[in-house]
Amino acid sequence: MIPAIDFAAAGGVDLDRLQRSLTLDGERVGAGQYRVSGGEHEHWVDLYTTSHPRCDCGDHLWRERICKHILAALLREGNERVVRALAPLFSRAAIARVT
Ligand SMILES: [Zn+2]
Repeated sequence: MIPAIDFAAAGGVDLDRLQRSLTLDGERVGAGQYRVSGGEHEHWVDLYTTSHPRCDCGDHLWRERICKHILAALLREGNERVVRALAPLFSRAAIARVT
């Protein structure tokens, strides 16, 4: 199953959020459902049961962004778009080490 994410409308995969998502723990509790912890608060992500992925955090609810919790869940689902977005993150880290 592919989660119905309009990446363009949500501002794409934000690299800062993606970087923060790598430090989170995601426990799969159902099909596309994750309990994401390791941040300030624990959040619940549901990728599939509605027309859009959902997270109960403010970043997603109020700013309508693809939040770090959804990104953590998508990574664990092997979502190609999000996995690909790791590449610029690593090159950015390499540049940061050099400069
Ligand atoms: Zn969230």
